Amino acid sequence: MDDTLYGTRDKRGNWHPNNPLETGGLFRWPFSLRAFIAWLPGYFLPHNVIFMAFGIGFWFWLTPSRETLETLSWGWALYILVRNALTVVVIYGALELWLYVRRVQNDRFKYNGKFPGEHPSEVFLFKSQNRDNILRTFGTGLPIWSAYEVLMLHAWANDFGLWTTFGDNPVWLAVFWLVIPLVHEAHFFCIHRLIHTPWLYKHVHSVHHNSINPSPWSSLSMHPVEHLLYWSDSLIHLILPSHPVLLLYHLHVTGTGAVVGHIGFDKIETVEGKAVDTHAYAHYLHHKYFEVNYGDGAVPLDKLFGTWHDGSNEADEAMKVRFRAKKERVKARKAATPAQ
Ligand SMILES: [Zn+2]
Ligand SMILES: [Zn+2]
Repeated sequence: MDDTLYGTRDKRGNWHPNNPLETGGLFRWPFSLRAFIAWLPGYFLPHNVIFMAFGIGFWFWLTPSRETLETLSWGWALYILVRNALTVVVIYGALELWLYVRRVQNDRFKYNGKFPGEHPSEVFLFKSQNRDNILRTFGTGLPIWSAYEVLMLHAWANDFGLWTTFGDNPVWLAVFWLVIPLVHEAHFFCIHRLIHTPWLYKHVHSVHHNSINPSPWSSLSMHPVEHLLYWSDSLIHLILPSHPVLLLYHLHVTGTGAVVGHIGFDKIETVEGKAVDTHAYAHYLHHKYFEVNYGDGAVPLDKLFGTWHDGSNEADEAMKVRFRAKKERVKARKAATPAQ
């Protein structure tokens, strides 16, 4: 495919889409039914439908029975860890293999013209972005994800929480199911904004931001404290009426779904002349500029707090003005503080 029909490549080989990003159609004010309907397909396709299928499949075929879950044991806890790890190996591994190892579409639709594997850096363990990222993903990411899952399933099996059934609460569960990606994004915005405060950024979140040019394995490359905060959105299933299938879907949106913002390509080419949108650009801009797009725009909290970057030149200018004002504030604060 000719990616110049959809975007522009600069002299350094970095590509960006021509159309600015838009925030979600549900919260646009004044509300527009036309914009809402236009937004809906992208909300479900392709990612959330896949994660829904994972949630359902895992619940019916890959989760131990209620009797087993009633008693905590290493056997089924390790099984949950291995099945989640295999899911990540297959999904992240396939994207990495296709786009970064075999480079099936070269740099077409690739935001950053460079491939991280060709640029060893001191900031990474073993000087390798991939090795560092993979170690953090499997070292603490998967165990913390699986620990949340084990404890929540154990809580369900022992009736701890407000668990319900589709027979008793079909409408509520259907609505909750539909808004889970929005719940995830609102929670992510809050914890993400929190870990961008100076102390937490330096000691926790900077680990994730080492990957300025992210690839699939960067998705869950985080400090363990960030992992703990990241999956804490699943605790909502203890305080609202829920069902384990919703919990599993939610864990996939958060865990498997972390890859969405880190694919590094705007589209994945499929058959001749066709491609799938990745929805990766908003989070790519966050990795590039750090202090924009704490969320992905489905819940427009960035717009509300003035940190939304839609990829346009105007957004670039607004960001620079904001950065300059911040610099001035820091300078003024330093000048006002008496020397020690
Ligand atoms: Zn990221
Ligand atoms: Zn960040």
